[in-house]
Amino acid sequence: MTRRGSAQRPWTTEEIETLQELAGSIPLARIAEVLGRSGAATAKAAERLGLSTRCIRTRLVWCRECAGWRSSVDAAGRCRVCRMREQLAGREAACAEVYSRMSPEQRAVYSSSEAKRGTRPSSLEPRPRMRASCPVSRYQRDRARTDYLLALEAWEHRRLELPYNAAKKRLQRMREVLGENPRKGRG
Ligand SMILES: [Zn+2]
Repeated sequence: MTRRGSAQRPWTTEEIETLQELAGSIPLARIAEVLGRSGAATAKAAERLGLSTRCIRTRLVWCRECAGWRSSVDAAGRCRVCRMREQLAGREAACAEVYSRMSPEQRAVYSSSEAKRGTRPSSLEPRPRMRASCPVSRYQRDRARTDYLLALEAWEHRRLELPYNAAKKRLQRMREVLGENPRKGRG
């Protein structure tokens, strides 16, 4: 649709709905193109409807390591989930190393203190789900998908961060049993 709309042409309900749907998800110029109206007229109509046309589309980047769409990757092309996974592995290795240096008596002291602590329920919230919705526009679907992928990234990071933090505390408690200064060692 490339028909040139006159400034006076009234907005149809359908056009208003399209504008409401697209505002903020794609650039204003693109919305004007879809509607076959000028950028100025589209901006004016959006203003009248109290709609922000600031495009908030998030660009996702591909992490080759975990083969997923992420909010960002570092210079090495790795996302924060992949970095956290590596940090967790490092910390678990540190725990195993400290544990290997404990005497059977020290291990018994440590084990009984850990048992007293009990197992606390994980505070990991449920895995995000793709929002199911009625037939919507491609733009709305894209946006819902982006929101879902960002929520999933945050959740995957959290899922690794929880055991990472727990391992840090275990490491500190083991070092206390060993009589090592927890501040001196690796984090
Ligand atoms: Zn990754």
